[in-house]
Amino acid sequence: MRGRPKLEDSRDNQYRVRLNDEENEMLSYASLKTGRPKSEIFRLALVDYYNKVRLTELNLESTDEEAWDLGKISLKRVIKCPFCLSQIRIDLEDESQVTCDERDMGPETLYEFDFEGECPSCGRTYRVTGYVSEYPQGALNSEKINVKMTEPLSDIPVSELPEQVIARGKETVEKLLAGNKRQK
Ligand SMILES: [Zn+2]
Repeated sequence: MRGRPKLEDSRDNQYRVRLNDEENEMLSYASLKTGRPKSEIFRLALVDYYNKVRLTELNLESTDEEAWDLGKISLKRVIKCPFCLSQIRIDLEDESQVTCDERDMGPETLYEFDFEGECPSCGRTYRVTGYVSEYPQGALNSEKINVKMTEPLSDIPVSELPEQVIARGKETVEKLLAGNKRQK
């Protein structure tokens, strides 16, 4: 018996990817919000990264005049207020100290930040620390963004916690309190 004719775009290569809980949540979220299967989100990210690698490669072979400006990564992010859990837009570009390191495929740019902001919803102060690394140019290499309150959550009586937080249940409240204590 003859096998099924091969589809023109059949996907015969399998690849297993390990994700931590945070990455897994990001994948589920992106899939839910866009309605795209999780596998497709990986493929899209791959195409994007691949294109950046190809363009960087050609730039390296070009003279300075021939090279294209590949732009840089966006440093706009959405963080969550650690107190009232509302979403806050931040532009890390305004807050970063930038350093460059020459590597095989051009410069690696490191954006480091440590700044405080005020939540527009609850008015409490939060602190953002971490870094974003860009390599090759225009592509995300790695990032770590920590957000915590400037005053310890553990000093605030549970009765003063915002409704949104209490509504998430005792376990979430305890986790928040414990997490903030740990980061002190
Ligand atoms: Zn807030």
